[in-house]
Amino acid sequence: MIEIQGRHQFKGAAARILKERMSVRRMEAGAYFVRNTAKGHDYVVRFVRIEGKVFGGCTCEAGMPSDRRRAPVQCKHLLAGIIVHNALNAMRRAAHVAPAPIPVFDDTDDPDMMESNY
Ligand SMILES: [Zn+2]
Repeated sequence: MIEIQGRHQFKGAAARILKERMSVRRMEAGAYFVRNTAKGHDYVVRFVRIEGKVFGGCTCEAGMPSDRRRAPVQCKHLLAGIIVHNALNAMRRAAHVAPAPIPVFDDTDDPDMMESNY
């Protein structure tokens, strides 16, 4: 696993992530399935928090080298997992901060829905 410290670690992955389509599904708390839809490969990305630090790991060759002398690197799957994880948490936080009920059909301030138009 790699300690996640900041965006600067993921510059290479950010460039690579644009070249291939990936889909990310939540597997369980802190774990995501990342599929390279071009190649059909699936990897599991997992995050853990240990003593206030966040660590992330991926099951791909870059994230978990079969040659144990090589250090794991920040792969694009890990970055994809971070992006989705952060997006999910942002939505959860927004829902928590603003618990206003969302109307089933929201036509508030929509001029097309004014009664005079019927
Ligand atoms: Zn990976």
